[in-house]
Amino acid sequence: MNLFTEAGLREELLTAITKLGYETPTEIQKESIPFILNEDRDLIALAQTGTGKTAAFGLPILHQIDENDRRTQALILCPTRELCLQITRDIQTFAENLPQINTLAVYGGSSITEQIRALKKHPQIIIGTPGRLNDMIRRKAINLSQINCVVLDEADEMLSMGFKDELETILLETPEIKRTYLFSATMSKQVEKIAKGYMNNPHKISVGSINAVKKNISHLYCVTRHRQKLQVLHRILDANPNNYSIIFCRTRIETQQVAEFLMIQGYSADALHGDLSQAQRDTVMKKFRLQNLQILVATDVAARGLDVNSLTHVIHFSLPDDPEVFVHRSGRTGRAGKNGQSICLIKADETRKLKRIEKECSIKIAPLEIPTNDVILTAQIDSIIDKLASDEVMSSDFTLPELPDLSEITKEELFEKFIYLHLKDTVEYYKNHPSIEYNSNSSDYNSDRGEERSRGRDRDGSRNNGRRRETRARRKDGKPSNESFTRFFINLGKKDSLSKGKLFDLINKNTKGKKADVGDIDILEKFSFFEVESKYKSQLLDSFNKDAFQGKKINLEIAN
Ligand code: AMP
Repeated sequence: MNLFTEAGLREELLTAITKLGYETPTEIQKESIPFILNEDRDLIALAQTGTGKTAAFGLPILHQIDENDRRTQALILCPTRELCLQITRDIQTFAENLPQINTLAVYGGSSITEQIRALKKHPQIIIGTPGRLNDMIRRKAINLSQINCVVLDEADEMLSMGFKDELETILLETPEIKRTYLFSATMSKQVEKIAKGYMNNPHKISVGSINAVKKNISHLYCVTRHRQKLQVLHRILDANPNNYSIIFCRTRIETQQVAEFLMIQGYSADALHGDLSQAQRDTVMKKFRLQNLQILVATDVAARGLDVNSLTHVIHFSLPDDPEVFVHRSGRTGRAGKNGQSICLIKADETRKLKRIEKECSIKIAPLEIPTNDVILTAQIDSIIDKLASDEVMSSDFTLPELPDLSEITKEELFEKFIYLHLKDTVEYYKNHPSIEYNSNSSDYNSDRGEERSRGRDRDGSRNNGRRRETRARRKDGKPSNESFTRFFINLGKKDSLSKGKLFDLINKNTKGKKADVGDIDILEKFSFFEVESKYKSQLLDSFNKDAFQGKKINLEIAN
C-alpha cells in the first residue's frame, strides 16, 4: 500500500487526513491499515511512539464503525491521561466528516460524574486509561459487551506502570469474540504474557528494529565541565535561535534549576515534573503544545504522554541510565518527516555510558564543539536574514508613510545597525562572556572533577582561573580545597531574602560554631545550592530540617 486511497478507506476519512497533510502512510500505517481492514485476526504491532500509530489503528477502526449503531464498538486503552486526550483529539480530527460517530475519553483526575453522564450517550468509541475504566466497571457505569475490537496502546508502558490487574479486569468485560490489537515499543515478558492470555493467534508486525532510532534524527554530544553545563546549554540554545525543544533532566531539582536558569537568561522556558499539581502540569503542557513556551525542561516520567510534533531539538541535560529511555526521549524530535537533533551534554567521565547507548541503539553520536561566540552570532544573524528573505516579515500590508532620507548612510552601515538593534542584548552578553573551551586531550579531562571542587563556580560561566571566591576565604589554611564537599539544596532563595551572609549565619548556627568550610553558594529565586565539607552532612541535614528561617520551615536535601 503506497497511498491511503489504495487501502479503500472511506472518503470522509481521506478528506480529513488530506486536510492534516498526510500524503504517504508511515511504515506502521502501511502494514496495519490493510491488515485491520481486511483480516479477521488479532495483531501485535511493535512500534515506537511518533511512528504514526494512532492513525495506524484509528483510521481502519473508524472505517469499520457502524455510525447508525449506538452501541460502544471499539475500546482503546492507553497508559496516561495525556495520551488518552491526545488519541481522542486525533480520532476526533480523523472523524470530523463523520458527525454521527461519537467518541469519549475516560481518564482519571477529572470529574467522574461528568464522564458517567457522557457514557450514557453511548459513544461508539471509548478511549480510556486502565484505572478510571476499572472504576467505571465497578460502578457498572460502562457496557463493554458489544465491543468488536480492543486496542492496547503502549502495552509495555501500561504494564510497567502496574496496570496488569486492571487490564485483565477490563478484558474480561469484553466479549470473547472480538479483535485485539496490541501496540508496544517493546515485547517484554509481561507483554508476552498478556498476548498469550488474551490474544488469539496474533499476526506480528514490527517497524524496523525495536530500538531503531529514526533516521532523520542527528545525534550529537558535547563534553563540558560540570560547572559549565548550564552555560554550555545556553550557548547551544543561542546557536539554534528558532529551536523548539525539550530538555530532559533526571531529578525535579535539576529540572527546576535548569528552567529557572533559562528563564533568567530571558528564554521562554518552564519546568514539568512530578511535584507540580495535575492542573499546573496541564497548563505547562498546553502552553508548550501551543508553542507559547519555547523550551520545556522535564523529567522522563512527567513528559510521558506529552505529544508534540515539530520539536527541533531534544537535549539530554543528563544522560539516562537506560538506552531505551534514550530512544524514547530522542524519538520526540524528527517526527512527521521533519529533521531533528538530539544533543547529549556529558561530563568527560560519561563517555563510556555514551558508548553503551551508541552500541545498544545502533547509532552514531557525533561530537559537537561548544558553540563559540562567533558561531552563535553568525547563527543569530543568519536567522534574521532568513526571516528577511521569507514572506513572514511582510505578510501584513504595512507600508512606510514616508521613505526616510538614507543618503547619509551606506547599505552596509544600515544593515550593521539594523542587526545590532536586533541583537544588542546577545552581542553585549557575549562581549562579557568569552567562548568556553573544552579540550578532551588536555588536562581539562583529568582535572575536571578536582577543578570543580577547588575553583570557584561562577554561575555566569565566566572563567575565574582558579581565583577563590569569598566563600573560600573562610578556609583555615588558605590553600585550595581538596577535601570532599557535599552540595545541598535548600528551599530558600532570594524571594525569602536569603543572602550569602544569612546563609553563612545559618550554617554556623547549625554546625554549632565548628567553622565548617563552605564551598560554592548559588542563591536562586526560590531556592539555593551550597557546598559544605562532607563530614558535616548528617549534622546539617538533621539540624537544618528542624530549623526555620524567618518563619519558614527549612527543607534541606542533598543536591544531585
Ligand atoms: P503518532 O505516532 O500517532 O503519535 O503520530 C506522530 C505524528 O505524526 C502525529 O502528529 C501525526 O499527526 C503525524 N503523522 C501520522 N501519520 C502521518 C502521515 N502519514 N503523514 C504525516 N504525518 C503523520
